[in-house]
Amino acid sequence: MKDSVRKLEAYQAETPIEAVKDRYNLDHLARLSANESVAGPSPKVKAALKTALEDLDLNYYPDGQATVLREAIADLNQVPADNLVLGVGADELIQLLTRVVLTPGSNMVVPDPTFGEYGIHGDIEQVTTKKVPVNPEDGHIDFKALRDAVDDQTEMVWLANPNNPTGVFEPVAKIQAFLEDLPADVVLVVDEAYFDFVKDANKTVAPLVAQYPNLVVLRTLSKAYGLANVRVGYGIMQDPLYTAMQAVRLPYNLSNLQMAAGTAAVQDQDYLKQVVSDVWTERDKFQNFLADNQIPFYDSQANFVWLDVGDAPKVGQQLLERGYQIKSSSSPSWVRIALGTPAENAGLQEALKEILGK
Ligand SMILES: *Cc1c(COP(=O)(O)O)cnc(C)c1O
Repeated sequence: MKDSVRKLEAYQAETPIEAVKDRYNLDHLARLSANESVAGPSPKVKAALKTALEDLDLNYYPDGQATVLREAIADLNQVPADNLVLGVGADELIQLLTRVVLTPGSNMVVPDPTFGEYGIHGDIEQVTTKKVPVNPEDGHIDFKALRDAVDDQTEMVWLANPNNPTGVFEPVAKIQAFLEDLPADVVLVVDEAYFDFVKDANKTVAPLVAQYPNLVVLRTLSKAYGLANVRVGYGIMQDPLYTAMQAVRLPYNLSNLQMAAGTAAVQDQDYLKQVVSDVWTERDKFQNFLADNQIPFYDSQANFVWLDVGDAPKVGQQLLERGYQIKSSSSPSWVRIALGTPAENAGLQEALKEILGK
């Protein structure tokens, strides 16, 4: 076995909702730990799935280019269809990018904290992950420190924007300035899993892909589009990365059902707008509650908030016993809480007040 794999710890996947309810004897569990959508997908998705299933010859392989979905995504983002690599969630793109780009013994640079999947795949590819702390005051990326961490062994830099778990968003101009200053042989991946929830009009670096062959933008349908169970994500990149990624990925990674669901979801932008607007309302309410109660937090542009509760594992456990599952294993004192339904969020605030003695 590879040494890099022997030492590996698996990504901590979510415990199924029913199992948690049984364990703590709960009637209702608000699952606020994985940044999923409480609204779910557009109703057009299930309709499209039903039609697709009726028309489907299960014995034949799907379209390996996912042409219909590819064109819908190209249309949505105004990018060339041959700049898109589709995957089984953005997670598959993260895995593929590390596989394509990284050489054993090199390094990659990430902010700290950030999404754990980058580091796991870096470990598998036998590279060092250099972690650059975010500004502790407001959670913003320290771009100068990030640039200083890039050395002649660096092959990749990862930037989730908005970042997970902090929710903090970096303006496009700052990322472009960083990119200008980055050696052309270092790949910058900007993971825009939560970009739909950003209020700024200028919220994506996707238009810059045409200009920078070392820039990759990642997106997922798991969050704002409410399709976490369907597993569809994509990367926007030009050559030579596009051709390399297409060669390395598995030929039939998406089934017709994934394609049908994904296409229906991206084509219903009215529904998406409503979901995002509801998240904004709940985000404002929750952040006002935190400010009013002097609970420290970073200003979030995502569908979750990162806050300082003092004793994260303890508060996480106390909330779970009350029916609120949150992410409390990322830091000793900070926790990440996804926005739920208005009723769940109101209940959560009451529970937090009680637990924190506010
Ligand atoms: C949720 C998430 C993903 C993974 O999304 P999938 O498409 O479900 O694999 C990728 N990046 C970040 C930052 C995420 O939070």
